[in-house]
Amino acid sequence: MINDNFSKQEIKCEYLIIGSGAGGSVASKYLTDYGKDVLLIEEGDYYKVNQLKGSISQSFLHAWRNSGFTPVLSNSNFGFGEGKCLGGGTYINGGLVWRTPEIVLHGWSKKFNDEVYSYENFKKYFENIERILEIKNNKNINHHNNESLKIQEIGKIKNIKVVNVPKSINSTEIENKLTLGAAGLTKNSILEKYILSSKKKGLRIITNCKANKLVVKNGKIQSVIVTQNKKTRIIIADKVILACGATQTPKLLKNSFGNSFLKSEMTVHLNLRISAKFDRRIQFKEGIMFTKQIQEYLNDGVLIMPTSFNKSNLFSSLAKMNNKDLNNIEKNIYNYGSFIIQLSSLNKIVLNNFLNKTILTYQIHKKDIEKLKKYFKFFCNSLFEIGAEEILLPFKKNFKINKNINLENILNENLIRNNIEMVSVHGMSSATMGIKNTSNTKFDISGRSFEFDNLYCLDSSILPSSTIESPQGTIMAMAQSILDRSMQ
Ligand SMILES: Cc1cc2nc3c(=O)[nH]c(=O)nc-3n(C[C@H](O)[C@H](O)[C@H](O)COP(=O)(O)OP(=O)(O)OC[C@H]3O[C@@H](n4cnc5c(N)ncnc54)[C@H](O)[C@@H]3O)c2cc1C
Repeated sequence: MINDNFSKQEIKCEYLIIGSGAGGSVASKYLTDYGKDVLLIEEGDYYKVNQLKGSISQSFLHAWRNSGFTPVLSNSNFGFGEGKCLGGGTYINGGLVWRTPEIVLHGWSKKFNDEVYSYENFKKYFENIERILEIKNNKNINHHNNESLKIQEIGKIKNIKVVNVPKSINSTEIENKLTLGAAGLTKNSILEKYILSSKKKGLRIITNCKANKLVVKNGKIQSVIVTQNKKTRIIIADKVILACGATQTPKLLKNSFGNSFLKSEMTVHLNLRISAKFDRRIQFKEGIMFTKQIQEYLNDGVLIMPTSFNKSNLFSSLAKMNNKDLNNIEKNIYNYGSFIIQLSSLNKIVLNNFLNKTILTYQIHKKDIEKLKKYFKFFCNSLFEIGAEEILLPFKKNFKINKNINLENILNENLIRNNIEMVSVHGMSSATMGIKNTSNTKFDISGRSFEFDNLYCLDSSILPSSTIESPQGTIMAMAQSILDRSMQ
């Protein structure tokens, strides 16, 4: 039993945390460890660590917002994914916990003229997170899956930077079940290490409980109106911490203070999947997944890595194929490997608030298309060099290529706005911190609201810019840094 129930219409607490993802879970642990009276509310449900058994369909149905990828209105085929359950995105994610790249932290320090974001200052937070989640990188992993080894091979022949991926692995099995619904199967989950462990120390948790509106009295947030099991309740809190994630924190702010309160756009990383057929068995089943990443082009906002791949996952992206081709893939399924090119997008997703729904719209920037052409060309040529026989590109049409084609022509003709297929699972910077009156910001660089001094934000929305790398480690470190400063 997870829920502390509303025994009456109204409930009181010292700290109310709204949302239980990467930011909310850090706040829950931090404040409970400090002996504070903390209530955590979460719109989604509670699923035990291994309850969904690594099933993507069960995970979509229960643990994702809108039961899977939310469509983004765009010329391209584009879906955005985020979690909606206790643990938020951390429950369904890949468990890669990166430190923020130094180039990103350096940019923030410079922007705010404040050393609080220097790598030196953040190091202690990373070390703490890595200790709690038992983060390992390759030094401790001997069993890399074949897709990762292909990335390593490309690194060698091209003489480029390939790094070990830091992962929160808890599995002693070599078999890898870390797909999109695998909280806890092979990773040390935040749910366990930050949320459930804090419950034992007094954290109160209410799931299926959605915050609808922040209510202001005398210049402070006096209470929050929530619904649980279709009943409206009121929570009175001394301090309110927003941690609803990159699409929902701006939504709650707009529901509370009107559409003009915040101009909301969300920074995203785009993921474009490239699958390649090799002349021998390649598929992920043997070895630990995602252990290598090409980081040579990080300063250009581009990363290349293996991706989560099982049959249903691959086939869901191939619905456009005819039956004969699908049968051929099925016959050789173990020879296919999947990779993604991840790009920090120049353009942002616009979060339109329409009749209380968030409608996402986006247009890929011309410069990003040019960049993608460059890296697609590099990566496809590299894959052919290391033995790929056929490559499936993330295009609606003309997606199958072999090494005899003219790659440059194919990319020029097909890597165009209305032929691209992509997804994003990294949204951020939709309610950024900043310096008052110098930018469109509602929070200072300590995460505190300019308008209401008992309101804080410490989830992905607050981040000053793209993290380039996967954001969970940064969100967690930033949350800890905000709490450190607010507790002083
Ligand atoms: C499939 C997938 C794979 C990923 N893989 C990785 C990875 O390997 N490494 C990495 O670093 N990052 C990864 N990410 C991204 C990472 O998980 C997110 O960036 C991170 O979880 C965001 O944290 P957050 O605190 O901003 O909010 P979220 O994790 O989005 O959590 C917000 C929570 O708040 C709840 N909520 C929203 N509105 C309300 C409301 N009004 N009232 C109450 N509750 C509310 C939501 O239901 C949700 O549970 C992945 C994401 C996905 C979806």
